[in-house]
Amino acid sequence: MPDLLKRLADIVSSRVFVRAVFFAFFVSACAQLLRFAAWARGAGPYVARPEAPAGLLPIGHFTSFFAWVRGGEWDTLLPAGLVIILGAIALSWLLKRGFCGWICPLGSLWEGGALLGRKLLGGRNVRVPKWLDLTGRAVRYTLAGAILVWLFMVPLSEAISFRELPYMWTADIKIISGFGSPVFVVAFALAFVLSMLFGPVWCRYLCPLGGWYSVLGMASPCAVERDDELCVNCSKCTKVCHAFVDVERAPKRVWAPECDGCMDCVRVCPAPGALEARVLGGPRIRAWLWPVLVLGLWLAIYAGAKSTGNWDTRIPVETFQQVITSGQLELKTPGGL
Ligand code: SF4
Ligand code: SF4
Repeated sequence: MPDLLKRLADIVSSRVFVRAVFFAFFVSACAQLLRFAAWARGAGPYVARPEAPAGLLPIGHFTSFFAWVRGGEWDTLLPAGLVIILGAIALSWLLKRGFCGWICPLGSLWEGGALLGRKLLGGRNVRVPKWLDLTGRAVRYTLAGAILVWLFMVPLSEAISFRELPYMWTADIKIISGFGSPVFVVAFALAFVLSMLFGPVWCRYLCPLGGWYSVLGMASPCAVERDDELCVNCSKCTKVCHAFVDVERAPKRVWAPECDGCMDCVRVCPAPGALEARVLGGPRIRAWLWPVLVLGLWLAIYAGAKSTGNWDTRIPVETFQQVITSGQLELKTPGGL
């Protein structure tokens, strides 16, 4: 019985399981948004408008977020976007890119491809030459830096007025509706195949948000640590790391910006005490507890926002209905780009 319970705990706290649950929730929220749009057009029964698809609009909501950081007011029209950003920042800093490693639905797709690739390729994705890997990662950080500068340069008044534009309110519907277009399907298939071969290439080489979160994760108080005296140099940790971190040769703490706290290395380590996640080098965080902390913090932020009226939109459904039926779904970006 204890074995069965342990096995169950291992499954429920595994990254595949946690990611799958979040991914299923996000897909169902997107489907619900489409049903809401159908209702607005008079083509179906009423369903409440879900807020979670706000995560599909990072540029728009980060524009709003930085406007808030620069002294503009909190977005009361679509606050869920800002809450998701705050949650992602908190998880990235406190738990080593916890958002990328356990929650991000897009990352889950590419991780799914990478996992399938590992199964087909005999246990490991293909590692690109070091110079190409470094170049690709440099591209991601350059993109991340350029977008950050641009977000700070968008005039404050324009950033604030952008959140008041009707097409921002319905851009998520436009994006979800475009998922079936040939261009999207081809791009998705290409990215999926590349992820099968080389691991999640979007996350590692292109995602600007991942670039920001990696930098934040470097300053995380919680990280994997290796004890050189207890390590038996079996290389299992390095082999299992989906982020290609050479854990076996890490100095005491795994600093790597690509580490997303997946805990795979800790789980496979056969030497008791050799590899553990710790808080500031002190208290140990067991492998099963890490995802519990990630989920707990994420849900606490959501619950706090929801209970204080900072999650749901204050735009009346009749206004959404008007915008949707008037066809104002054209997607634009702030700053004239
Ligand atoms: S296997 Fe270890 S080093 Fe690699 S990403 Fe996961 S936690 Fe980080
Ligand atoms: S898995 Fe553990 S024992 Fe093996 S090399 Fe890594 S830290 Fe050392």
